Amino acid sequence: MTPDRECPTCGNTQLIIEPVGAFAHATRCPTCQVGCPLCDDTGYQISVDSETGYEAVAPCPCQAADHRIEQFNRATLPSRYTDATLMSFKPGRDRGLINARAKAHKFANEFVPGARGMLYHGPCGTGKTHLLVAILRHLAVKRGVRVRFIEFIHLLADLKARFGDPNRVGDPLADLVQVPVLAVDELGKGRGTEWELGVLDELISKRYNAGRTTLFTTNLNPTLAEGRDSLRERVGERVFSRLVEMCAFEPLRGRDYRKVKAQDAD
Ligand SMILES: [Zn+2]
Ligand SMILES: [Zn+2]
Repeated sequence: MTPDRECPTCGNTQLIIEPVGAFAHATRCPTCQVGCPLCDDTGYQISVDSETGYEAVAPCPCQAADHRIEQFNRATLPSRYTDATLMSFKPGRDRGLINARAKAHKFANEFVPGARGMLYHGPCGTGKTHLLVAILRHLAVKRGVRVRFIEFIHLLADLKARFGDPNRVGDPLADLVQVPVLAVDELGKGRGTEWELGVLDELISKRYNAGRTTLFTTNLNPTLAEGRDSLRERVGERVFSRLVEMCAFEPLRGRDYRKVKAQDAD
């Protein structure tokens, strides 16, 4: 395949992403990335120094591509968001959504470990999860960053299982604390029991202390007048004040994003 011709299978992205079970799964493009022409799939290139005649061994560029595929597959992005990218986020003419996409793009392009995260808040259907997934995809596929996506209620169920496992060794939170970018979708869902708030506090405090980047979405308003449900009330003052320090709060209001998408499809 010559580089100036676009691969009909992957459009020269070198990989394809498909839903497999619950998650989006990436593989090398079967048309243009099978049988690496540079290294014959050994993973290494040997070059001979013309002056000294010595052979030098260097990793082939295809190894970096495989690393990015691996980072994508470890992200556990939900399969229903297989096609969610920054490009496929359609803000229509809504200024708020246009702005949000531009900021998400800037964040993903300029990310350095420990960068301040984002907390997207707004009603259902404004595209919060799409943006979250698109950022992670960009970080994994374009930048090779290790990322992890988890829905808040799945996180609770997962932790409940791990804390309750009599055979467990080590800290059940360890991998969620260590991943350089963690995205938590639908923060504040769940029953809000003392146990749930306890594990949330522990996870957020540990990531905060380690200076790691965390992204969130929530349907709850960050703060509201007394007597109504808000994120602040739901997670408690201590967690909320950490969130304020760790994240830029981004409101996603706009029109119903799903309706905007449907109109664009017409
Ligand atoms: Zn291809
Ligand atoms: Zn190669």
